[in-house]
Amino acid sequence: MTETRSILRYDDGGWAEATGGHLALDLVNTVSWRLDPGRTVDRIPDADALERWARFVGLRADVDDDDVARARRLREQIYRVVQPMAVGERPSPGDVDTLRRTLLGALGRAEVASVMPLELAAADLPDELAIAAWRLLEHEDAGRLRQCRASDCGWLFLDRTKNRSRVWCSSADCGNRSRARRHHARRTAGQR
Ligand SMILES: [Zn+2]
Repeated sequence: MTETRSILRYDDGGWAEATGGHLALDLVNTVSWRLDPGRTVDRIPDADALERWARFVGLRADVDDDDVARARRLREQIYRVVQPMAVGERPSPGDVDTLRRTLLGALGRAEVASVMPLELAAADLPDELAIAAWRLLEHEDAGRLRQCRASDCGWLFLDRTKNRSRVWCSSADCGNRSRARRHHARRTAGQR
């Protein structure tokens, strides 16, 4: 199954998935069940976890605790800017400014790997992720940003379908749970 290649499994039965359609959104999605505070899990709590996730998304990584803190801070900065747009709202100017400063810092530390087309070599993993966020904002269509329809999930993704019809982060996960719930509701109704 090709799908298993895009899933990183954890001992607690949960997983991370490269389902966002963009590296910057996959970083945002290293928080599971973001909209259900009792269940929320941070999948990059320490250097080992961040390195494991980085390898999973195809990045080389040799990180320390400071990198973990920066990656997590960046993740929340991206979330606060992108999530409002995914639900048809505008991010606050303060949140945009905070992210702007992080992105400019990463760009300022990057070296030029190729002049034209311009390719940047980030100074480290958090900077590489920040530059990915820069590319997300620069190149992608805000109208395709989505928040998974499941009320507890909170994962964000780019809907790249032709008719803009994707509503689940993953039909194998939230889509399935929703179908199971509807099925259960029908059965329950029938038993009354
Ligand atoms: Zn979901």
